[in-house]
Order: sequence, then structure tokens, then C-alpha cells
Amino acid sequence: MSLPLAPNLAMHDGHSIPQLGLGVWQVPEDQVEANVLAAIEVGYRHIDTAQGYENESGVGRAIAASPVPREQLFITTKLRNKLQGYDEALRAFDDSMKRLGLETLDLFLIHWPYPEANRYVDSWKAFVELREAGRVRSIGVSNFQPEHLERIIGETGVTPVINQVELHPHFQQRPLRAVHEKLGILTQAWSPLGRGRGFEESTVLTIAQNHGVTPAQAILRWHMQSGWITFPKSMTPKRLVENFDVFGFSFTPTEMQAMAALDDPGGRFGPKPEELNVPF
Ligand code: NAD
Repeated sequence: MSLPLAPNLAMHDGHSIPQLGLGVWQVPEDQVEANVLAAIEVGYRHIDTAQGYENESGVGRAIAASPVPREQLFITTKLRNKLQGYDEALRAFDDSMKRLGLETLDLFLIHWPYPEANRYVDSWKAFVELREAGRVRSIGVSNFQPEHLERIIGETGVTPVINQVELHPHFQQRPLRAVHEKLGILTQAWSPLGRGRGFEESTVLTIAQNHGVTPAQAILRWHMQSGWITFPKSMTPKRLVENFDVFGFSFTPTEMQAMAALDDPGGRFGPKPEELNVPF
């Protein structure tokens, strides 16, 4: 089954990114090729992987086998913590490109600030160089708090296009989003479905019923209408279709307000970025 493509959002560097994609964290290397190819068939054009997911080679095989030309796909990968540093990041980028089988990457992110190592500014300098050399079109970060954003921008003058952070109905990142807005950074939501938390929430169930959709579709529609970029993970063919079929209905302002009211500033389930110091 093939659905209409997702809309593109403009980034501050002049490039654009499909607003809805597929995340492949925890998809095993030997299953990711089939998963990505199935998603492409549905209409997905944006794939989010990372060095730490250890499945870039499988994503690369899917890109090579895809009937959709490379130029129409948007591929993101991320620098893993243990490879942070200027020289290390340059080498790690080359290794990712070999695994992905790509000449040019669409988006490269620093996966976590990993403050204990204190190498994220050096990593960012390498990212700027890779972009200037045309090896990557856009550069951004993930899990950066305001102090980390301030530091890389202050020391290089280069603002990331995107910050990819935990964001779902029960943790809506209001203060950080205000910082993004001020800096012109797009918000990208990881674990957009809260890994299933919220599917039983009465607000979500009522809104889903109002529109004759599933709770997952309601939550993804809320992300789209809020203007965030996201990429739910699914290896189930039926859910791949379901998660991409979120452009045929709209929330009313009252429904948007009801979703906003689910926010819990303490609702983070992932690690606190300023405390994650694991060299994974
Ligand atoms: P998610 O919120 O996308 O939830 C995924 C889970 O929800 C699936 O494993 C599946 O069990 C279930 N699901 C998916 N579609 C469903 C549907 N239609 N109905 C019912 N259940 C459904 O969580 P995630 O996988 O943690 O996050 C998505 C992506 O975000 C990852 O694959 C990865 O690419 C990215 N991510 C990034 C970071 C980071 O540090 N940058 C961290 C975690 C995840």
C-alpha cells in the first residue's frame, strides 16, 4: 500500500526534511533492510539511524535496493559517544558513510552531549568542516540542553538545524522548545509514541474516537500539527501504514489544548542528557 508523501519542513540552512519518517533503533541489522524497504513502499522517505544502533550497513543495503532514487530519500545518522572529538568524529563519519554506502549524508547529529568527556564542541567543529566540504548537507544535535546549545553556538557561530529530543504527550519539552524557537532550531521528537504510554490515556482515546483513528495515529497527528519532526519505530507492516496515515484529519483547537494539558515536566523516561555519561 502506498500513501501520499509527508510534507517537508524548511531548515534554517536552506535544506528541507520530511516531517514524518521511520526510526530504526533496536531494529536488528539483519532485519532493518526489509523494514526500511517496507517503509519506503508505504511512502516513508526519511530514515533515522545512528552509529550506536549498529544497523547502518542494513540501512545502506535498503538504500541500494530501493526503487526510490537516493536523492528522494533523507538519511540521518548520529555520532556515538565513544567516537566524540575532532579527529574521531571525522573518522567516524567516513566509517558511517562506508556502511551506508553514501557519497553525501542528509543529516548528521551529535547523539548526546556526553558532558563528562567534554568533547562535544570539538565534535561540532568537525561537523562544521564536514558540512563545508559538502560531505553532509545539514548538521544538528540530539539531547542537547540549552547550556550545550549555547556553548557550541558561542564557540563556533554555527547553530544546529535540529535538536532531536525525547518528546511525547507526557513530556512535551516546553522550556527547551522555547529556546529552539528563539534560535531557529527545529524540534525533532524521539519516542514520539512514548513507546506506547498514553495509548490508554482517556484524552487520547476520546480524540482518536472523534476522528475514527487509533491512539497511535492521534498522537502522531498531534506531533505533525504541532510542527515537530518525528519518526516512530515499527517493524509491523500494518503499523507502518497506520503510522504514516495521519494527514487526512485535523485536530480542533480544543483537542490541541487537551493534548497540551497532558504535559508533565517530570514525565521524561529516558536519561537526563546532562547526566548521561556512558561511552556507548
Ligand atoms: P516510539 O515512541 O516510536 O515507540 C515505538 C514502539 O511503539 C514500537 O516498538 C512498537 O512497540 C510501538 N508501536 C509503534 N507503532 C505502533 C502502533 N501503530 N500501534 C501500537 N504500537 C505501536 O519509540 P522509540 O522506538 O523509542 O522511538 C522512535 C525512534 O526515535 C527510534 O527508533 C530512534 O530512531 C529514535 N530515538 C532516538 C533517541 C536519541 O537519543 N536520539 C533515543 C530513542 C529513540
